[in-house]
Amino acid sequence: MNKKSKLHMTTEEFREAGYKTVDWIADYYDHIEDYPVFPKVKPGEIRSMLPDHPPQKGRQYEEILQDMNTMMPGITHWQSPNFHAFFPCATSGPAILGDLISTGLGINGMNWITSPSATELESHVLDWLVDMMDLPKKFKSTEIGGGVLQDTASSSSLVALIAAREKTSKGEINNNGYNRKLTVYTSSQAHSSIEKAVKIAGIGKNNLRLVDVDNSFAMDVNHLRKLILQDIDNGLQPSFICATVGTTSSTAIDPVEEIGLICKEFGIWLHVDAAMAGPAALCPEYRFINSGVEYADSYTFNPHKWMLTNFDCSVFYIAKRELLIDAMTILPEYLKNKATESQTVFDFRDWGIPLGRRFRALKLWNVINYYGITGLQEYIHEHMRNTQELKKWIDKDPNFEIIAPVPLTLICFRHKNGDQFNERLLNKMNESGKMYMTHTKLNNQYVIRFSIGAITSSIEHLKETWDYIVDCASKIKK
Ligand code: PLP
Repeated sequence: MNKKSKLHMTTEEFREAGYKTVDWIADYYDHIEDYPVFPKVKPGEIRSMLPDHPPQKGRQYEEILQDMNTMMPGITHWQSPNFHAFFPCATSGPAILGDLISTGLGINGMNWITSPSATELESHVLDWLVDMMDLPKKFKSTEIGGGVLQDTASSSSLVALIAAREKTSKGEINNNGYNRKLTVYTSSQAHSSIEKAVKIAGIGKNNLRLVDVDNSFAMDVNHLRKLILQDIDNGLQPSFICATVGTTSSTAIDPVEEIGLICKEFGIWLHVDAAMAGPAALCPEYRFINSGVEYADSYTFNPHKWMLTNFDCSVFYIAKRELLIDAMTILPEYLKNKATESQTVFDFRDWGIPLGRRFRALKLWNVINYYGITGLQEYIHEHMRNTQELKKWIDKDPNFEIIAPVPLTLICFRHKNGDQFNERLLNKMNESGKMYMTHTKLNNQYVIRFSIGAITSSIEHLKETWDYIVDCASKIKK
């Protein structure tokens, strides 16, 4: 982009096209409720409407923007007030604009030297967050730990596992390849990203132990201890435990403190996955979710789930950064520079998997500064309050039951008419376009998940959705 060009968009053209694009996004949010939350298209339908060949001659930007009309029928409206599937994927005006500036700057913050502000803002804002959420001070970059942004919690957990693998194998795997002895533990309710990390990190699926859960779907520490002792007896080396604070199926909270004590006893790395739940700790009254985090070697949560910061943005903290850097570092000739040699800067290429890095911290910076601590607390409070209100309505209806505790903003419920009925009910609700929810299985029963967290969702929306669910159920034959 420059002032005058025949080939490229000029800055003046960009300004005009940019205003139109921002208008398009604002109009989208103004009319978001007009769209069916769950797209009604068939596989291949959107692609069949796209031109067979790319244009030989470039098109006007206004015309390209019109292509969104073709895309919209195949968009799932994650920001709709009636989106209650999976977990939320947060968004906000300041985050979108922060991302826009980051993209506009077009920098690559792989090393400190390649854009000092990108690295320093990221360290600074993540140190702020430690205080804002009352996390252990050891996670601060001013101590011997530090925070870094990854794209997703899947990457955060993978990076944690690699650091733990190198610590427990004393660097053997990085140097010589697999040793087949390391074992990993997580509950049967943990997110699938842990199993994926185990595969990618070369630990091997056969060395992953899925620990039983108790009645509240939280990890059973007696079973954990038993598995660890069995493995030690068999000459294996327990390396890594992932505790989940807010499981995907039901937001169950593992007993992190008890798990932490076991980790201490056996010298095992404790990683805490609080992908969804983490932001609850912005409010002092919900800091029960931090219980035991002082034992963690690493911790992750996603501002892109429940902290108003557009996808992708996963916070990763490590208690001893040298363990991560030792496991990840590479220094080819073409990346050598004086700042790195001085050892006074962080080169975030050594804190994660990719070399290249976006300026992700800017959108988080925008969010924290725009809302302030009070605004963020208000946002979390509202979702927690609304969830408890919804829970009362479900509790009151004799045809429905709540299947798991509701510590945060997810309600797992089902109609008392059995699995097939609930499956039909969920399909009918989603096909209506009025809402989108997903299901899980708990205790082998089909359960509908009502997940709260869209920025646009009010208590009135929840009431309307609940009334519709009741109405739908009344129209389904047993
Ligand atoms: N961990 C938990 C507890 C989750 O619920 C999820 C996703 O819902 C993940 C990890 C994976 O998150 P991401 O998509 O950021 O990798």
